[in-house]
Amino acid sequence: MDEKIKKLALECGFTHVGALDPATITLREEVRAACAENKCGAFNRNWACPPACGSLEACAVKIHSFTAGALLQSTCVLTDPFDYETMQESGRKHRESLQVFAQKIKVLYPEALVLGAGPCTVCKQCPYPSSPCRFPAKMISSMEAQGIVVSDVCTTNNLPYYYGQNTLTYTGCLCHTLRETVHQSNLRETDLRKASLLG
Ligand code: SF4
Repeated sequence: MDEKIKKLALECGFTHVGALDPATITLREEVRAACAENKCGAFNRNWACPPACGSLEACAVKIHSFTAGALLQSTCVLTDPFDYETMQESGRKHRESLQVFAQKIKVLYPEALVLGAGPCTVCKQCPYPSSPCRFPAKMISSMEAQGIVVSDVCTTNNLPYYYGQNTLTYTGCLCHTLRETVHQSNLRETDLRKASLLG
């Protein structure tokens, strides 16, 4: 993988970084169905989550328009399986690392797509659906929201997902470099058509 990206990711605080081929990503209806059960409370309540983040087809078109990427992980060690304090703190650090990384990588790749874990938490309370996203440039959707089985993608791209007993790993990813045939304006239009927002 691109060593510049790996170095930047490690500087941003991720513990493990691996190459990601966006073509290996499969988006699954069953992940969307799990979102719809709304166990996290963010379904239909956050601009970065389903259904607002777009149809599965639209998400697939966007992800598969990229030719390269990286998996970004934050692993923490728990004192025991109920160490919720460390889990929450590690989740907070992972989101913070993603925000810093996303702002920096977009200087190199303005079209880059950065995905995290869980709903977007930039605002204390997301105003969806009554008013538009307040900070679209900061909004980070999750891999799960796109319909991705994170463990499968890690396995396919030869990066561990599990680092041993009493560890917890949050995983995000970067997709960068658009296919030569894809232009941003066309991409947006295709996404919208797939999402049935255009005729
Ligand atoms: S940036 Fe704020 S308004 Fe936009 S998706 Fe995130 S929480 Fe919602």
